[in-house]
Amino acid sequence: MLSEEVKDDLKISVVQASLEEEDLPLWKRVEKENRVDETFNAIRIEKRVENPKKKIFGYNIQNCEDKEGVLWYREKLAVLAAIVTDVIREIHESKETRHSGRTKTRKAIANSRYYISNGYTLVGRFLRNCHVCRRTKPVHQLPAGLLQPLPIPERPWQDISMDFVTGLPTSEGYNAILVVVDQLSKERYYIPCTAVEEGTTSEETAKMLYKNV
Ligand SMILES: [Zn+2]
Repeated sequence: MLSEEVKDDLKISVVQASLEEEDLPLWKRVEKENRVDETFNAIRIEKRVENPKKKIFGYNIQNCEDKEGVLWYREKLAVLAAIVTDVIREIHESKETRHSGRTKTRKAIANSRYYISNGYTLVGRFLRNCHVCRRTKPVHQLPAGLLQPLPIPERPWQDISMDFVTGLPTSEGYNAILVVVDQLSKERYYIPCTAVEEGTTSEETAKMLYKNV
C-alpha cells in the first residue's frame, strides 16, 4: 500500500503515443525505443567495460549485441517494457496466430524477430486480458450456459483494459507501468507507477486512472 506521502510525491507523467508514432510499423517503433532506452543503454555500457557483469536487468550480457545502436538479444530485436504489450498484441492478433491460446502465441513470439524478457509471464497476462479472447472463448469455471458477448463500446473510454507491467528496473523512483487501452479507439496511456510487494489495491489503481486518463 502506498503511503499518502509517496502518492503525493509521485510525479506522474502521461505519455500518449502520438498519431505519427502509431503510423510507424511496429518493428520500427521497437527499434526507435530500443535505441534510447535507459536499461538498454546500461547494457551497452556494461558490454564495453572490461570484466562486465554476467547479468543485468535479467539480460545475460554475453547474449546482448549492439548492432548499429540497436540492442539485440540472442539474435533478436530486444523489446523494451513500454512497448511489450503492443508487440504481444500484434503477434497474438496476426493472421497466423488469430487469437490462439498461450502455447501458440508464445511459440509465435519465439519464432518472431523479437526478444521479450519475461515473455512467458507477460503473454499469459496479456491473454487473460485480451478482449476478443474473453468475448469468444468459453470460461470453464462458470456453469454452462449461453455465452453473452460483451457489448461493443459505443463511445471512447467507455470500455478499457488495464495491465500492469512489473519487474522493471527502478527509474526515477518508478518500477512499473500501468498500460491503459481504450477498447474502441485503441488509444493507449502509459502511467509510470511504483509496484509494492503487497500489490496495488483496486482503489489506488482507480485513483491513478482518474488522475491520469
Ligand atoms: Zn485474443
